[in-house]
Amino acid sequence: MAISKRDQVILACTECGEHNYITDRNKKLHPNKMEKMKFCRRCNKMTLHKECK
Ligand SMILES: [Zn+2]
Repeated sequence: MAISKRDQVILACTECGEHNYITDRNKKLHPNKMEKMKFCRRCNKMTLHKECK
């Protein structure tokens, strides 16, 4: 099963802007932009990551 590129989202650190994670989103379950606490290597700590395009 191929993963559609349209469903891929990039999560970027809100503190330094680094694009740290690529994930996919079920737009039916999550119609809004994703926000997750993730570890940022550049900040070396847990930061809020938001979906970016
Ligand atoms: Zn960061």
